[in-house]
Amino acid sequence: MAREQFQVIADYLAIPEDERDRLLYPKRAIAVACPIHRDDGKTSVFMGFRVQHHLTLGPTKGGTRFAPSVDIGEVAALAVWMSWKCALAGLPYGGAKGGVRVDPRSLSLRELEGLSRRYMQEMIPFVGPQTDVMAPDMGTNEQVMAWFMDTYSMYQGQTVTEIVTGKPVASGGTEGRREATGRGIAFLVGRATERLQMNPMGATAVVQGFGNVGSVAAASLARMGVKIVGVSDHTACYIDPKGLDVAALERHAAERGVLAGFSTELLADPSELLVQPCDIAVPAAVERVIDADIATRLRCRILAEGANGPTTPDADRVLNQRRGEVFVIPDILCNAGGVIVSYFEWVQDLQHFFWDEAEVLNRLNHVLDRAFTRVMARAGRDDVPHRTAAMAIGVEKVRNAKQVRGLFP
Ligand code: GLU
Repeated sequence: MAREQFQVIADYLAIPEDERDRLLYPKRAIAVACPIHRDDGKTSVFMGFRVQHHLTLGPTKGGTRFAPSVDIGEVAALAVWMSWKCALAGLPYGGAKGGVRVDPRSLSLRELEGLSRRYMQEMIPFVGPQTDVMAPDMGTNEQVMAWFMDTYSMYQGQTVTEIVTGKPVASGGTEGRREATGRGIAFLVGRATERLQMNPMGATAVVQGFGNVGSVAAASLARMGVKIVGVSDHTACYIDPKGLDVAALERHAAERGVLAGFSTELLADPSELLVQPCDIAVPAAVERVIDADIATRLRCRILAEGANGPTTPDADRVLNQRRGEVFVIPDILCNAGGVIVSYFEWVQDLQHFFWDEAEVLNRLNHVLDRAFTRVMARAGRDDVPHRTAAMAIGVEKVRNAKQVRGLFP
């Protein structure tokens, strides 16, 4: 998907063939074996990966995911998307992504800590505050980032908070990082409703995924007066045209860790969630959930891509035909709030000077607003889909930086 999307952009920007590989190929791809002691006394080995896409604009930046799907290809695609995302937002980073092939729910807390520490320890030769800065992604959280930071720091002999972002506020994290992706999604949905002259008050939304991104997006949209008519995670899907009680769902998910068990009456078929009639659909879980068939059946006015890569290139071709009906906020714009506040966290850690939440939010909205305005202007000027416009802005920025720096030696 990442390659196919890039070719579309490279054709649109008329990038010569011999320049394309330099832009697309990852600089480094690392695979490590992470052995850990299990609670039963046995040893298990998990495969870990990290792909650093380019180092042209500064260190690389991106999350670490713990999921059974993780492989080098998935991580590479996600690293490439991080590059365009950071460039679009104007952050001084290249993209990276990493992960461990594991179902974190199959580990005890002690095993999870052991695996987190071993993964970071294996990565020490390849990461650093000026080389590659990790963050949370699917299956990891603030606690995992705190273990990463501690492990790296113990090897350095001093506390190096700026080695990862998305840490707890208690250990060098920033106010507002945990909520940043979800809040950013809601902010951009707000900008989209303005453009479409829709009133968010009383508009309806469905949200797929109820982790850190989906749950905060749902709560933030609800605060804007949007009625959440459907939510799902990997354990359950609930639909209620009258509107779900988001605060109750959040409490349930906080207690149980999953949505299962919240209600029997409202249970629905998860494959029906995204195609519900609604104003706003937010895929905020995994890649490739919108294929050509679902794209044809979408009945939302705004598609806000909270996940990375939720829409396949085939689905994109359908959505391009339906441009007047479905307003797409592409992933690299829609979920950029997370990495933008990660950048703020890194800057605060480097300066040992911390901002309050209002300042973080203010700056976040400013950066998102600037990116949104640029994407809209580009899409309008060249009559291209929003995804093409967003990616083109990102690719152009990296391309220009590579051109002026030239090739060494
Ligand atoms: N994992 C998040 C993403 O995909 C955040 C990355 C970061 O904060 O560096 O954008």
